[in-house]
Amino acid sequence: MKVVPIEKNLPHVTSEMQCRNCFKSWVAVYPEKTKALECPGCNEMVNSYGVAVYVNKCKACGREFTVTPHPDDLSQWKNCLSDDCSSYDEKRLVEVKDIESDKGD
Ligand SMILES: [Zn+2]
Ligand SMILES: [Zn+2]
Repeated sequence: MKVVPIEKNLPHVTSEMQCRNCFKSWVAVYPEKTKALECPGCNEMVNSYGVAVYVNKCKACGREFTVTPHPDDLSQWKNCLSDDCSSYDEKRLVEVKDIESDKGD
């Protein structure tokens, strides 16, 4: 079991968690801004709903970001793609528009 240092300055949340991956239940205490927690049952990173998430650090802006649900193709998620980050990729929106405009006759 890992010991995680608690940062005293930050407000903490106590919540009853259940992992959707392995169905382990536990009580977690974590800083309010935490986006993902490590499940003590299966060691997956899960969000506050117990859903497995992918956690990565954006190569463009250095911020940590999460992708929910955990994507199969991680090569798509090297950057956060936020609209306030240089990794923002408007091509993804164009793909959505293309699908919507393809209504046939
Ligand atoms: Zn689990
Ligand atoms: Zn970024």
